[in-house]
Amino acid sequence: MTARRTHIVGAGIAGLSAALAATVDGGEAVLYEAAPHPGGRCRTLHPADGFDHDNGTHVLFTANGRALDLLKTVGARERWCEPEPKGLPLYDGRTGEMRRVGLSPWSWLLPSRRPQGLTLSDLVRILRLVFAAKDCPVAAIIGKRPIMDSLIEPLTVAVLNTPPEQASAQRLACALRQLIRPGAGRLLVAKNGLSQDLIEPAIATLQARGVPVLTGQRLRNLLIVGGRVIGLSLSDRTIMLGPDDRVILALPPYEVERLLPALPVPTHFEPILNVHYRMKGLDRPRFIGFTGTLAQWALIRESHVSVTVSAADTVVDQNASDVAARIWREIAPALHSLGLDAHPDRQPETRVVKEKRATIRQAAETLPQPPLRPLANLALAGDWIGSLPATIESAVMAGEHAASILHHARGTRATLSKDRALKTEDAA
Ligand SMILES: Cc1cc2nc3c(=O)[nH]c(=O)nc-3n(C[C@H](O)[C@H](O)[C@H](O)COP(=O)(O)OP(=O)(O)OC[C@H]3O[C@@H](n4cnc5c(N)ncnc54)[C@H](O)[C@@H]3O)c2cc1C
Repeated sequence: MTARRTHIVGAGIAGLSAALAATVDGGEAVLYEAAPHPGGRCRTLHPADGFDHDNGTHVLFTANGRALDLLKTVGARERWCEPEPKGLPLYDGRTGEMRRVGLSPWSWLLPSRRPQGLTLSDLVRILRLVFAAKDCPVAAIIGKRPIMDSLIEPLTVAVLNTPPEQASAQRLACALRQLIRPGAGRLLVAKNGLSQDLIEPAIATLQARGVPVLTGQRLRNLLIVGGRVIGLSLSDRTIMLGPDDRVILALPPYEVERLLPALPVPTHFEPILNVHYRMKGLDRPRFIGFTGTLAQWALIRESHVSVTVSAADTVVDQNASDVAARIWREIAPALHSLGLDAHPDRQPETRVVKEKRATIRQAAETLPQPPLRPLANLALAGDWIGSLPATIESAVMAGEHAASILHHARGTRATLSKDRALKTEDAA
């Protein structure tokens, strides 16, 4: 009898999540990844000069239950910490003032944790946003009010990576409904880095379950016969599937479109720009928000400071050194006030990472979505699938869902006559 195997293509968060789900009860899986390392858009870069940093800062909230469950499964929950338990420090670049803001509305009961300018009528608008029945841009509900600058815009670009003038109110509402639960709005970051605190523990867990992780293996083509996948044409080999084998494509939408051109997929993306300054930081991570500046967030680590600019369409094509210099001048006073040796005129060694297709554009419009199981034995996963914001949480959910769909689906098995035409090679 041939073993049933799940072939997962793409070792980003969705692929790792699918592989963990497919092997939870002893199932067999193989993971194929085009890049030299797993992690996809959520990874640590290790340049030759030793300046290790993440591609870009990733935060989780305590509301992200599936992502936190995955961390527990791979023994890495304790590696994620809450850098600002007393509320997020927000630095206003126009006034030079730093104040703390609570991310959960419950914390706003304390005046010292309230977003600047919050009024009763803002609370009504926020409630309209949270329970938006029809989709429209976030800005159409909130309007041009101080709260847009001090809370809604930073939150919208952080969660949806899309400017509030375009961003989908309903998608943001999905996240806000989770965040308003008591205890759900605590912000977490990886203590050391994304690879060390998420990707490597996930890979170690998979390897302990006997899952081969084959890097440098780009899926070039799917071999399809009679509505099911019979083979995978990879960078240096072709894998013929067994009659019970299944495939999960945990890929970005443009790769799904290339492999299965008939499927409708989202085609618009938004960039995120990250600037990393190599300098002595602090013993434990700190996290600051910025308003009135190009910089939006800064994560302070022991050996560097990482700055994020989401929805970075207007700056991503500008000269990287100019952008980094401008951001350094903006953030140096805030870093100095936290005790770092930072001066606007002394910019440290800098790295700029431009993720041009960081996420899909999550505008207030119906995004094209393919069927989740477009072929009898193939399911799709990825952060862009479904109506939740495209984040680690949605990637984890999509991976688990794809594994579950194939596990429960009828008709994934090849018929006997087709079986005879198949040849099974050992993928590992
Ligand atoms: C700078 C930045 C900051 C972010 N910040 C946050 C944050 O704060 N919080 C949060 O929750 N989310 C954040 N995100 C989003 C988060 O990174 C993504 O939602 C998540 O990583 C998506 O995972 P995925 O597996 O769906 O896709 P991907 O990570 O894109 O994984 C797809 C994988 O498939 C591989 N691949 C592609 N084509 C092929 C092929 N033909 N054959 C084999 N392999 C292939 C790719 O190399 C990749 O490894 C951020 C993203 C970026 C870029």
